[in-house]
Amino acid sequence: MVTVVIGAGIIGTAIAYDLQKRGRSVVLLDRDAPGKGASFGNMASIAVTEFMPASRPSVWRQIPGWMLDPEGPVRVRPSYMPRLVPWFLRFIAASRPAKLRALEAQGAALCGRALADTLDLLRETELEDQISEQGCLSLYTDAAEFKADREHIEILERFGFAHEVIDGAAARALEPALSDKIGMAVRFPDNRSMKDPYKLVLALAERFVALGGHNERGDVVGFARSDQITAVKLADGREIAADEVVICAGAFSSRLSKLLDEPIPLETERGYHTQIMAPGITMQHSIIWPARAFMVTPTAGGIRVGGTVEMAGLDAPPDYRRAKVTVRRAQTALPGLACAEFTEWMGHRPALPDTVPIISVSAKVRGVFYAVGHGHLGLTYAATTARLMGDLITGGRPEIDLHPYRINRF
Ligand SMILES: Cc1cc2nc3c(=O)[nH]c(=O)nc-3n(C[C@H](O)[C@H](O)[C@H](O)COP(=O)(O)OP(=O)(O)OC[C@H]3O[C@@H](n4cnc5c(N)ncnc54)[C@H](O)[C@@H]3O)c2cc1C
Repeated sequence: MVTVVIGAGIIGTAIAYDLQKRGRSVVLLDRDAPGKGASFGNMASIAVTEFMPASRPSVWRQIPGWMLDPEGPVRVRPSYMPRLVPWFLRFIAASRPAKLRALEAQGAALCGRALADTLDLLRETELEDQISEQGCLSLYTDAAEFKADREHIEILERFGFAHEVIDGAAARALEPALSDKIGMAVRFPDNRSMKDPYKLVLALAERFVALGGHNERGDVVGFARSDQITAVKLADGREIAADEVVICAGAFSSRLSKLLDEPIPLETERGYHTQIMAPGITMQHSIIWPARAFMVTPTAGGIRVGGTVEMAGLDAPPDYRRAKVTVRRAQTALPGLACAEFTEWMGHRPALPDTVPIISVSAKVRGVFYAVGHGHLGLTYAATTARLMGDLITGGRPEIDLHPYRINRF
């Protein structure tokens, strides 16, 4: 029984490791080295309090204004707009009040397990020292700005996620580099961050091989199948025999699912980071400023600044002006943040219009499974997704009902 996992990002690597541990014979297949996709440069946050659907009216009502502002937190490249219409209509459909309540519960069910599952995974792989003890601070200029984000806090209260509202002085006591413009903050103690998310993928891939798993390089261009999958076809003409295939190729997954006549409304929400090696300040907590749409995370290689969404498809070249704008915004919260020695990076968040990932068996082809569309939370959800997929594939009973995460829900 051979299981081929397509995509060695954090999702595929965690799944391959989990399945190999359960005794499956697993091939982890990627056209690139493990962890070079979105999982390489994300903001490193186990962001358990960030599961709110992006389709909330309070968010999407701001989108037209943002789109007119070339430096706004969401940018759609004009040439890409027509291609985005079907996805955007589904996004709007996911904003009905009853639908939103259901989506919040589905995100909360995953996030409620995410930190414990991540800690288990880190213990098993002896990577406990890779996660911070400190949480995350969400920043606000004043009470009015906090009130505008009140919906977020109310959702967290409804699902029992830990948080503490503090004033600006208390926030500066925790993070002295913060500007005195910050009048309020919310501390999320369970939003931890990894020192280096790429290192986590590499370590998982190594463990997977140590357990007998097999890493393979190859660009998947097709499948052999009847009503059952039988092989994966590669661009160089090779075929890898497979009894089971798990598709977790990040933002590229819909190109593969299409080959199986199983379309997925998947888009890329392109995001940027700037890794600052000599930032001139030190930080213990990660910070987010919801009104200014950026995040800053202390990582092993310096301070990482990121955020923003750019809708421009999988093939357009990066526009690093977006990374520079984000650094300027971060400097309003952290006036001492220097940006002299840095690198910039762009990655593809695999985004579904309803914000909830697909964790599912195929509705079309026996032996095919999907773990796709983890959006802004792929690192956060990886350990939980791997555990749920492991149960689903090996016939165990997943800890949560996976029906809402099925592929044919759209
Ligand atoms: C700027 C930014 C900040 C983020 N911050 C956070 C954060 O703080 N916390 C969080 O939880 N998440 C965050 N995310 C989201 C997170 O990074 C993603 O959800 C996650 O990395 C997706 O993982 P993946 O394994 O699905 O995809 P990827 O890491 O993109 O991996 C997909 C893999 O599939 C391979 N592949 C694709 N097509 C083929 C093919 N045809 N044949 C063979 N291989 C193929 C690719 O080479 C790639 O290695 C952020 C993302 C970005 C861009």
